[in-house]
Amino acid sequence: MHDTVAPAVWPCELCGKPSRDRVHASCRQYLDDDLAALPQLYRALGAELAPGRRGGDGRSATRSAPLPCSEAVLDLRARGGIEGVVTTWERDARETLGWAPPPFRGDIEQTIAGAVLFLRGNLSWFCDVHEVRELASDVRRLVGECRRIITGERPERRIAVVCDTEDCGGIMRVTISTDGQRCPRCQVQYGRADVLELQPAERRAA
Ligand SMILES: [Zn+2]
Ligand SMILES: [Zn+2]
Repeated sequence: MHDTVAPAVWPCELCGKPSRDRVHASCRQYLDDDLAALPQLYRALGAELAPGRRGGDGRSATRSAPLPCSEAVLDLRARGGIEGVVTTWERDARETLGWAPPPFRGDIEQTIAGAVLFLRGNLSWFCDVHEVRELASDVRRLVGECRRIITGERPERRIAVVCDTEDCGGIMRVTISTDGQRCPRCQVQYGRADVLELQPAERRAA
């Protein structure tokens, strides 16, 4: 237990490591890069839907077979997919700041582009005062989902790790791309690097 907190340093909202700012400049840059990638990923997913996309590379036996990922692609490209996540955050930010709601920008692709520009333009505000951890985890999940479809990777495996704070023993399920995690038992917040260094739960049971 800590009774006092050093005045000028606290855990970065995104990685949990000590930082003088609420969010490290590098962590903020990762988030900005992820946001910037979304319009491009939206277009790349469109190419996944084109007939014969997987016909020539030997991954599909028959060209007319339904693509296993097409439903996920359609969901991500529909209103409420990528568009839903970025516009929900834009609307939330505008409401909190007392600004007018987002303008109509056109089709889904144009709406995503506009919302992404808005979020990137106001990233300092998110990093300094708003719910940047939630924004980052939404964006990271979205980018990961899109990239896995485009590269044909399987979903990330979850591993169970054991909290080692004061022999707590709480179990957290994390993926390799986790942002960090809070222990459900003792409520200690682990940063990305720290949570990945914890012992796997299976080995501990022996
Ligand atoms: Zn950080
Ligand atoms: Zn714990």
